[in-house]
Amino acid sequence: MTTLSPLLKQATPVVVDRALGSWIYGTDGSTYLDFTSGIGVTSTGHCHPAVVAAAREQTGRIIHAQYTTVMHKPLLELTQKLGDVLPAALDSVFYATSGSEAVEASIRLARMATGRPNIIAFHGGFHGRTVAAASLTTAGTKFRAGFSPLMGGVHIAPFPYAFRYGWDVDTAVDFALKELDYLLQTISSPADTAGFIIEPVLGDGGYLPTPPRFLEGLRERADRHGIVLILDEVQAGFGRTGKFWGHQFSSITPDILITAKGLASGFPISAIAASSALMSKGWAGSQGGTYGGNAVAAAAAVATIGVVQDENLVENARVRGNQLRVGLDRLALDNALIGDVRGLGLMQGIEFVTDAGEPNGALAGAVQQAAVAENLLLLTCGSAGNVIRMIPALIVSAEEIETGLERFSGAL
Ligand code: PLP
Repeated sequence: MTTLSPLLKQATPVVVDRALGSWIYGTDGSTYLDFTSGIGVTSTGHCHPAVVAAAREQTGRIIHAQYTTVMHKPLLELTQKLGDVLPAALDSVFYATSGSEAVEASIRLARMATGRPNIIAFHGGFHGRTVAAASLTTAGTKFRAGFSPLMGGVHIAPFPYAFRYGWDVDTAVDFALKELDYLLQTISSPADTAGFIIEPVLGDGGYLPTPPRFLEGLRERADRHGIVLILDEVQAGFGRTGKFWGHQFSSITPDILITAKGLASGFPISAIAASSALMSKGWAGSQGGTYGGNAVAAAAAVATIGVVQDENLVENARVRGNQLRVGLDRLALDNALIGDVRGLGLMQGIEFVTDAGEPNGALAGAVQQAAVAENLLLLTCGSAGNVIRMIPALIVSAEEIETGLERFSGAL
């Protein structure tokens, strides 16, 4: 008999027995406050009763039909529910299973709709791990190294990372927009550029909110040149930032919005939304996947949107996010190796630096491990793993935020 081992590098030694709300219970009897939410997925907390009930009920009716063969009720309901929360201009939806697949669908759509080959993504962006999604991803070399050749036609432009450049935000935005214009004049002419893709808050790249003026600059250039503006809301969407969508801190509407993660509280389903006019230009029966729009996942998504609305979770994310931020800012005052605290709502990042101000991945990793000993689960991100990210569930209470801050302080 062969002894198999799973292919993974686990960030914590925790083996979960069960989980509820913001809490994870280990098989060894330990209890952890979960500020990772399955990498920003369990928006309504672990095993929210309404989500569990919807999934149970649907499992007894039909688990899978594939909606391109037989439509099912949960997907019709989900499409209607998404209409409540999506920008009005985005009136057509396509379903897939994961964030990466939805990113791929958006790239195909932009290329088919424009007849142009190139996609411009931004430094520090994370869009997934499939070959096409990884080719757009520069959150760290580990997502790309050894996988070449990646998808062609991708160009990466600077992101206005004000802290890293040591500039104020306006200067960083001016610089990044000028560099983008230069790229469009020298390497990827508008006539060859199908789309821009960007996250409203860089996720794996370090929890960096994209300045509204940068998004507005992209919108203006996209309109001027007929380029499709794709907003990857996989991590920052669904209420996490304290607004339903991360791009709503700016005045823009994207041409394509990608959502996944928080959409179904842990069930695998993703979607892209666009105007029917754009969607119909690109569709040639060429997109889809066996499990896309799965009935149980769709039922869980319907329940998730219901909980987010009924329990006012977007507002909770805003208020609890502010509380978390005030506490983190206070802790940063006493710690010279915290270079920056930033984020929106319940998506907060703490960037660690060396004495020389360089990214300090070793320290962020050590703090993450120390937090496990304090019974607090955290994740790192950033190009050198130098940022601790906090992503509590959107149902998190004031008391749980205080407990998280105390345990984080202990870990520091
Ligand atoms: N886009 C963003 C912004 C993400 O954060 C992720 C995953 O972390 C993805 C895309 C890829 O999603 P998935 O891992 O479901 O393929």
